[in-house]
Formats: sequence, C-alpha cells, structure tokens
Amino acid sequence: MINNLYPDLVLLNGNIYTINSTMGKARALAIKGDKVINIGESYEIERCIGHYTKIFDLEGKTVLPGFIDCHTHFTISCSGFHIDLYSVASKEEALSLINTKIKEISNEKWVIGEHWDAYRWQKEEAITKEELDALLPDNPAILVNLDLHEGIVNSKGLEVLKLPRDIPIFDESNGIVREKALENALRGIDKSADLKVVKERIETLINEAVKMGVTSIQVMSDLDEKDLKAYAALLKEGKLKVRVYLMPYIHQLGHLLKLGLTPGFGNEWITIGAVKIIADGDIASQTAAMSSPYPNSTGYKGALRYSREDLKKKIIEAHRAGLQLAIHAIGDRAIDLVQEGIEDALTLYPLKEHRHRIEHFELANPNQMDKAARLGIIASMQPCLLARSYVYEKSLGEGWGKRNNLLKQVADKGITIVFGSDIDPACAMSSPLYGIHWAVNTPNPRQRLGVEEAIKSYTSKAAFASFEEDLKGTIEPGKLADLVILSDNPFEQQDRIKEIKVLMTIVGGKPRFINENFKLEH
Ligand SMILES: [Zn+2]
Repeated sequence: MINNLYPDLVLLNGNIYTINSTMGKARALAIKGDKVINIGESYEIERCIGHYTKIFDLEGKTVLPGFIDCHTHFTISCSGFHIDLYSVASKEEALSLINTKIKEISNEKWVIGEHWDAYRWQKEEAITKEELDALLPDNPAILVNLDLHEGIVNSKGLEVLKLPRDIPIFDESNGIVREKALENALRGIDKSADLKVVKERIETLINEAVKMGVTSIQVMSDLDEKDLKAYAALLKEGKLKVRVYLMPYIHQLGHLLKLGLTPGFGNEWITIGAVKIIADGDIASQTAAMSSPYPNSTGYKGALRYSREDLKKKIIEAHRAGLQLAIHAIGDRAIDLVQEGIEDALTLYPLKEHRHRIEHFELANPNQMDKAARLGIIASMQPCLLARSYVYEKSLGEGWGKRNNLLKQVADKGITIVFGSDIDPACAMSSPLYGIHWAVNTPNPRQRLGVEEAIKSYTSKAAFASFEEDLKGTIEPGKLADLVILSDNPFEQQDRIKEIKVLMTIVGGKPRFINENFKLEH
C-alpha cells in the first residue's frame, strides 16, 4: 500500500523548461499516473523515489511540454493507398515514385498521392490526368497538393466518384478538382472506406505525430460515424497515443446540436472542439480572397465560400449556440468579412471567453490585427509556411515572400498566436520543431519570434486555444505528464532547431515514442 505514495516515474538531471513564467526551469520531475506531481532539483526529486519508481537519467537533455499541433487534417483520405510526394523535386520524379510504389497495391484500391508541391519543382509542371491514367488505368487515383486545395483525379477515379458537374472549380476534361470539388472528392473516397481501414490510417498518423513530439493534436474533421468509432476503438485498445481535439465542419452543426454534442464533450483523450468554417481558398491555388487582383489575372481576386450575409449568419448561429469558432481566412478580404461576422456576433451576444480563432490569418493587414486584438480573436497560424516564401512570391508577386505570416507584428499587437501544421503527420513538414525553426528564422528578420514565444505557441498558448490550459501546455504539478525530450537545446541552437531530434515523447506519464538512438539507464 505504501508504494502508492511514490511516483511511478522520475526524470532526473534534465534541462526542463516548464514554459510557466513563474516556475522557469527545473532539473527533475516526478510523475504519478498521468500527471506531473512534483518538479525541482534532482536531489529533491530523488528523495521521493520509491522501490517501484522507474528512473530516467536524462544527462542534461532538454525537456519541453509536449507539442500541441493546433491545425491538422487527419481523416481526409483515410482510405486507400497513400504515397508521400513531399520530397520529390520534379514531375518526372513524382511519376517514377508513383510507378514504383503502385507495384505494392492490389486492384481497385484508391491511390492517394499526397503533399506534392509543384511550386518547388525545378520546372513547375503539373501532372496530367493522362499521365496518371497511363500509370493507373484500373485503380481510381487522386493526387492532392501540399496545400490541400487542389487535386488531380484520373479517369477511373472520376468514374467511381461521379462528381456532380455543377460544382464550381471542377473540370472533368482534365480531372482537376479544387476547393469544394476537392472536398467532395475526398469525402467520396472516405465514404468507400471501411472502419478497419480508417482505424489503421488514423493509427499510422498518430504514430507519426508522436515521433515528432506531438502529444495533442487538433484535427479538422468530418466527424462521421466511422471517425468517431475509429478514435474510440483506438482509445479502448490503448493505441491512441496522442490526445485529439476534433473540430467538425459547420455543415454538421445542426446534427451535432441535435445530439447535444457541444465543444468540451469528451475526455482528456478525445474532445469535440471548435466548429470549422472555411471562408476562402489559399495562396498557392490563387483562391484566397484578396482585396486586390492577383497578378497576371484579369481582375481576379480569389474566391469567398459564402456571401457576406451567409457567412455572418453562420458565425452568429454558431456563436449563439455557445460554440467556439475556427474560421479559415487567408486573404485580407476574407479576414475582413470574418471579423465583421465575429464582431456582429459579439455585439448581439457578448461573451468574453469565446476564444474564436481565425485559422491562417496569413495576409492580415495592421488594421485587421488591431481589430483581432480588440475582439480577442486567436490567430491560429502555420509557421512551416515561412519555409515556402516562393509560393507567395510566385502567386502574389515580388516582395510577398517577406510580407506574409507577420508573426512578430501580430504578437506585438497582443494577439494570442497558436501554431499548427495544416497538414497530416505523415508529411515531414508537420514537425513542430520545423515550425518553431521557421518562426524563429523567418526570411523577414523583423518578423522573427523568440524561441520561448515560438515554443509557447505550440504548447501553453495552444492549450489555451482548446480551453485546456488548466490541463496541459506547461510542465507543472497537477498537469498532465505530456512531455518531449530533445537531442539538443533549441534555446542554444536557434539557427538549427529543425535539425533537433525528438528522443522521447511521454503522453499521460507513459513513453509513447523512444528514438532508437536514445539509450536510457534505468
Ligand atoms: Zn487547413
């Protein structure tokens, strides 16, 4: 019985950043169950070690609170055979990789090529439907770009999907699907997947996330029956290594409200979160709604998903129902409308702790930043995009490579910035250390954040964005033992943070990932 008083696990001789400003740093900590129960010097923590306490000697390694990725896409394309095209440098390489990989699949399975970034290729050439048909005459296939706003479907895929012809931005002749048409296509693919496949895919993604030091993940999700069942089954089987905050889309609002599923429903592992609305497109596809036309266009300013009135109505309806909003807005014209909607909602139904979020906020101007600060809007941003300044240069024109995602300016206005990856964890770009690296080393020196600020946006502030700041985001007694142990100290290696390795990820007091090169004496 007496052993029950002792910690289950202690970490000694570490370099622990609590990310709690009053606590600062510590050398050791003790974990009991899924919580941190004590932090301090190693000799202090050693005193409470019991007979059955597990001891990890960290030999000076850096410990941070586990990372919280505030914006991921997890369950789209949960079915099928996935090919990661992130690292290919040309169309030829992409086609040859697909050609090699497809030898492993059986017939009639969806082939999903992901994360291709034609902007980065030496020659910016899109893969055509015909080229895809030649490789995959019998399998339905889709290639989805890194920005998740454009895809190419092969002939077999179009035949299976039977996409309605009246969706804008869908061209059957070349198989290109953008925005809403892409969403329809992905939903169509997911519908065909059975629970087992969805579960396996989510498990794969979770395993990738935990390798990157992610302990909580906020997922834009369609929240259909298969999704919920898959998450619940993984939790039951002890395979849900990462905590999930599921953010359903607005079109599911009526259904959720009928069921009484409002944000906060769930437990420490699976929670129903904010409601997602998409206001515009993105930069790479030139669909973000801008106040001035895209260069080389005949006055085209991008696309809004809803009319001003419709958007406002949706925002007010969700706000009135007591829901947190997470609204995708990239272009300044979209940001304007979203803020107008939130302001009207708050005027009609005042609420201090609404924590409404604008997802991306990439091209906010100074007036919009002032307004966001005044309304208490959270800026949910993706620092990994700062590695892709070429996208802004090519799409918006010269100079824009340094005029996007103005992190320092947003922070200086007093806006809470939280970080996410906007991609699934199977893509290398989704690593929080990669994101922190670019927040600290953005190409525009005047917009750089300090290391601690950048880490906070992936930890303590990220927890605030999901109303979970009392539960996680800092290392302190009483909070969940969600931690990451790093190979090097990002505070001392500012210009090479992206090369730092995750050695161990602890979620709920248990190691869920251990790097094969990390040897622990215990
Ligand atoms: Zn997104």
